Amino acid sequence: MKILVTGGAGYIGSHVVKALLESKKHEIVVIDNLCKGSKKAIDALKTVGEFEFIDMSLEDVLRLEELFKTHKFEAIIHFAAFIEVFESTVKPLKYYLNNTSNAINLITLANKYGVKNFVFSSTAATYGEPDTAQVSETSPQNPINAYGRSKLMTEWVLKDVALANKNFRYAILRYFNVAGASSDGLLGQNYPNATHLIKVATQTISGRRDKMSIFGDDYDTKDGTCIRDYIHIEDLADAHIYALDYIKENDSEIFNVGYGKGYSVKEVIDAAKEVGGDFRVEISDRRDGDPACLIANSDKLRKLTGWSPKRDDIKLIISSALKWEENIKE
Ligand code: UDP
Repeated sequence: MKILVTGGAGYIGSHVVKALLESKKHEIVVIDNLCKGSKKAIDALKTVGEFEFIDMSLEDVLRLEELFKTHKFEAIIHFAAFIEVFESTVKPLKYYLNNTSNAINLITLANKYGVKNFVFSSTAATYGEPDTAQVSETSPQNPINAYGRSKLMTEWVLKDVALANKNFRYAILRYFNVAGASSDGLLGQNYPNATHLIKVATQTISGRRDKMSIFGDDYDTKDGTCIRDYIHIEDLADAHIYALDYIKENDSEIFNVGYGKGYSVKEVIDAAKEVGGDFRVEISDRRDGDPACLIANSDKLRKLTGWSPKRDDIKLIISSALKWEENIKE
C-alpha cells in the first residue's frame, strides 16, 4: 500500500514508520512540520529503508491537496497533534486548531481523493474520569480537558464521515500511556520539554534534571498517586500495523491500546529507581486535568486483530527509555 503518515518525525509516528519500513510491504510518505517532531528521527529512519519525507504543515491545505493529487494513497496514519494535557487547559485553541481543525482538513482531502483507510491516534484522555477500573471501547467518553475533547471531536468526525461514505474506513486507536524507546536504540523521545512521567524520571536519573515531582499524592487510589497503563512504544507501533490490516479486510473499528495493567506514579518511580539508581523526588500539587486512574481493557485489539504484547514489563520500558536518554546528544 501507499501510505501517508502525518507526524512521522514524532515519537510515536517515527516508531510506526520504522515498523512499516521493516515490514517492507509498503510505500511510505511522511509529512511533518518538525514543530515537535525531530529531523534526527527522519535521518535515523533513512537508515532503515527508503521513504519520502516532506516538511509540511497540515494547515497548508493547498500544499496538502497537491500531495493528494500527485500520490494515490490507500491509507493514512494520522499522528500529527499536540499531546500535553496541561498545556491544553491553558491554550485550548492551540489544541482545537491542530488536533481537530487540521485533522478535518486531512479527512476532507482523504474523502475527496478516495483514500479508503484512515488510522487515527486517539487517546484514553477521551474517557475522562472513568467509573470502572478498566475502560473498554464502549465506556462513556467524558473528557475532562481540551486535549481529550479535541481528539474526541475528531473521532466523531471520522465516525460520521464513515457513515456517509461506505468506501471510507477508520481505525481509531485510543492510546494509554506510551513510553520507552526502540530496542535497537535507533529511536526514542526527542521532545525537548517532555512532560511524561517515564521521560521525566529518566531525565532525572541521567542528570538532566536535579529532581522531579509527583503531581499529587491525595488521589483516591491505593497509594494516593495516579494510576496509568504504560505500554512499550514498540508494542504500540505494532498495534497500528495490525489495526490497518484489520480495517482493510473488515470494517471500521475502535481499539484501546494498552496492557490492561495499572501502575501508580509512586510504583513507576520505584521501578525507575531499581533500574537507574536513586534520584530526588518531591511531592507537589495536583496537575490540572489529571484523572485518578486510567487502565485499558484491550481485549478487542487482541481478539480481532491478533495483536499481542511482546514487551509488557515496566522495568524493560524504563530501561529502554533510560538507554535512549543517556545516548541523546545535545
Ligand atoms: N506525573 C508526575 N510527575 C511528572 C510527570 C507526570 O507525577 O513529572 C504524573 C501525572 O500527574 C499523571 C501520571 O504521572 O498522573 C502520568 O502522566 P503523563 O504526563 O506521563 O501522562 P498522561 O497520563 O498525562 O497522558
